[in-house]
Amino acid sequence: MDVNRIGVIGAGQMGNGIAHVMALAGYDVLLTDISQDAIDKAMALIDKNLDRQVTRNLIAEDAKFEAMSRISTTLTLADLGQTDLVIEAATEREALKDKIFADLLPHLQDHTILTSNTSSISITRLASRTDRPERFMGFHFMNPVPVMQLVELIRGIATDAETYDTCLGIVERIGKTAASAEDFPAFIVNRILVPMINEAVYTLYEGVGNVRSIDQAMKLGANHPMGPLELADFIGLDTCLAIMNVLHDGLADTKYRPCPLLTKYVEAGWLGRKTGRGFYDYRSGTPVPTR
Ligand code: NAD
Repeated sequence: MDVNRIGVIGAGQMGNGIAHVMALAGYDVLLTDISQDAIDKAMALIDKNLDRQVTRNLIAEDAKFEAMSRISTTLTLADLGQTDLVIEAATEREALKDKIFADLLPHLQDHTILTSNTSSISITRLASRTDRPERFMGFHFMNPVPVMQLVELIRGIATDAETYDTCLGIVERIGKTAASAEDFPAFIVNRILVPMINEAVYTLYEGVGNVRSIDQAMKLGANHPMGPLELADFIGLDTCLAIMNVLHDGLADTKYRPCPLLTKYVEAGWLGRKTGRGFYDYRSGTPVPTR
């Protein structure tokens, strides 16, 4: 199926990156959010990130201007009715995603493919509440989207071959690589990555190490480019907790129970980089461990 116009719902960390890579690959993008402030920040960030690519000679100056001109924004979800593909990248809460799809469906054209960038929620369950489970699938980007090579493509039980192939074609056009995952809680990457982060938080909670020693141990001892707590702050602690809860509920195994310390940070609103404080305090400009 031909896709020209792509709607992106949610202009947060992921939505801005998705709009960026799609526009750079030549798609017309319509970006929406409930917050004008989020949209303004996303557009400024896309501009800055494209500039960085120009400075590093990864793209031409013209390509940057063309990409920026292909992105329009709206606060009205119904405006996405004119798109061929929708990628939902709003906050990781199932009820919120259900409500977005319910509000959007009456405005969509029949052929439009609906996808979610969810890190962990069942694609089959989200699809079952729409009018198009066969044209619904998981389109899971990694953070930061312009940099990370992988996209996980997740078929729900009803996803048809044309929908899958269309999304695979888009992944190829944006120059990324797809990994196909079955629709089980947290798919492949987060099924492995987020329990590791949760274990790092337990290691902190039980006093085995402090923030700095845990991150340093995994960087120098396991050759990870970022420590697990630094990575948790980067992903967002609310997102990490939501993924652990999905694993715990969906697989009914106590090995996935979220660490109480992770819950406490989220309850405090210390969600990581995006709120200025998580396992590190970023407010002075230099990250300072909070434990
Ligand atoms: P974020 O908090 O940075 O952004 C979420 C955005 O959604 C916010 O701008 C918010 O205003 C907006 N939003 C909330 N309700 C909305 C509504 N009803 N309509 C439109 N917009 C609405 O979150 P994020 O990190 O960008 O995550 C978004 C999605 O991407 C989640 O499903 C998350 O699991 C997934 N994801 C996140 C990562 C990551 O590393 N952060 C990686 C892959 C996938």
